[in-house]
Parts: sequence; structure tokens; C-alpha cells
Amino acid sequence: MERLSDINTIKKILTKHGFNFSKSLGQNFLINPNVCPKMAELCGANENNGVLEIGPGIGVLTCELAKRAKKVVAIELDKRLIPVLDETLSKFNNIKVINQDVMKIDLKKLIKEEFLGMNVVICANLPYYITSPIIMKLLEERLNLKSITVMVQKEVADRICAGECNRKAGSISLAVNYYSKPEYLFTVKRGSFLPAPNVDSAVIKLNIREKVPFNVTNEKLFFKIIKSSFAQRRKTTINSLANCLNIDKNELIEIFKSAGISLSSRAENISLEQFSKISNALSKGK
Ligand code: SAM
Repeated sequence: MERLSDINTIKKILTKHGFNFSKSLGQNFLINPNVCPKMAELCGANENNGVLEIGPGIGVLTCELAKRAKKVVAIELDKRLIPVLDETLSKFNNIKVINQDVMKIDLKKLIKEEFLGMNVVICANLPYYITSPIIMKLLEERLNLKSITVMVQKEVADRICAGECNRKAGSISLAVNYYSKPEYLFTVKRGSFLPAPNVDSAVIKLNIREKVPFNVTNEKLFFKIIKSSFAQRRKTTINSLANCLNIDKNELIEIFKSAGISLSSRAENISLEQFSKISNALSKGK
């Protein structure tokens, strides 16, 4: 079989199908032969489990996953890639390609129907234009996954892996840390893709927690508070929350005092657990 990560093979297949890259769909295909085997290995694909892939492109990672996993289901939005995938994946009988938008599909139902009795992991080179919404959907829907191994822009990987109380942290870091323990696996240079993007990438693995680390009475409010605090990260969190969520400043001062949080704290100084205390106190009055 021709090597799918070979740039000449990719060009030949794409020319045959009259395919042009769509920038708006985040189409940067891997041409570095070392990346996909490494990702497939590190995501934990094995003969007993199922792998869900998002955005297979021409199937370069899909093949490596199918060599190792019991079953692979790949969701691809671009219908022009379906005949390409029919050709490139024809040698495998454990792959199902679904032509849908990952943001619209019912993933709980899909996992239940397609991976009965299997442990499930996610492995994907994500389209950059919707990296964070996809990650949040995968986590918030509590999909009964073991892990999520994804390639994202290096800057996003650094932010997610920065953890809490860190200058690099953003609201995504805190949300991801609430549901999982993130791990930085390796960096992928921009020249590993066709066409080459303007930035480097990195592969990260989110090891899903069996239990969230502490009790949050209203998760919607909890994430709203985190988002609002980071949206105005230079302001003190008391001021950001008073502005964005229209909460009485005196009430916030009392809550911060009783939770032992400094009144001058900014979002990057507040831990996940402290955010949960703010949220739980505010949700009492609701
Ligand atoms: N996995 C391939 C690789 O590594 O070479 C392609 C990765 S490319 C960065 C992202 C892929 O996601 C593209 O094939 C694109 O068409 C697909 N995609 C973009 N938006 C999507 C969505 N909302 N749902 C499913 N697939 C999507």
C-alpha cells in the first residue's frame, strides 16, 4: 500500500479526486510519517478498544488507528473527502466513516451504538477553527471516555497544560482540568503539514477523571464565572464578576472573604477549587 503520509501520494490522490483544500474547514493534512504512528500508539488504541476520530481528512491517522484498535469510527464534515476515504481505507474492515458535523452529532448515542462493550478513546488532529468548542463538547457531555488525545495549536496545548494559578492559564485550562488530567505529549512542527500552517502544533492527552475533583452545585454557573473572570483577566475578579454577571460587589466581597480568597485576586491567581466555592456560594442565592 502506498504510504498515505507521503506528500506525492497525497497530491496524487487529491488530484485524482479534484480536491482543493478548504481553509475554512481547517484542512492541514499530515505529511510527516512519524506523527500518526506515535499518536496512535500513545492514545492507547489496542485490540480491545474503540477509537473515535474527528476529521480524518484522507485517512492518514485513521489507518494507523485501525491497525491497532478493534474498531474506528471517523466523523468527517467535508463530503468531498468521503470518496477519497472509500479509496484510502478500502483495505480495512474495522473502520466506519460518518459524514457529519461533530458539533451537531449525538455522540452519546453514537458511542453506545458503535462501540458496545468496548472502552473508548478519542484520537484526532483537530480542525483549528473549532478546537476549544470540540474539546468542551467532548468533556461536557460526559461521554464515558478513557482519554482524548488531540493535536492542537501549540499555544492552545501550552495553555491547557499550564494548569491553574498560572499566567499562561485561560478559561479552557480550568475547564479541562476539572474534567481531566492533561498531559503534553510532543510538539509537531508546522512543516509536518500540507499546506503548512503559520504556527507549530502539539499533541496532548486528556486523561478523563473518573470523578470530578470537588462538588460543584451548578456547573453552568461555575463555567460562566470562570469565563467571565478570564474575559477581563487584568481586572480583579471581584470587578469582572460584578461587571459581567451583574452581581452585587458587597456580596462578592463577603463570598471571597469567607472562602479565604484575596480581594485583589485576578483570574490567574484563583484555583479551580476556589472558583467552585465562589460558584457554590452564588448558586445558593439563586
Ligand atoms: N486527520 C487528517 C490529518 O491529520 O491529516 C486531517 C486533519 S485536518 C487538521 C481537520 C479535518 O477535520 C479536515 O479533514 C476537515 O475537513 C475536518 N473537519 C472540519 N470541521 C469539522 C467538523 N465540524 N466536523 C467533522 N470534521 C470536521
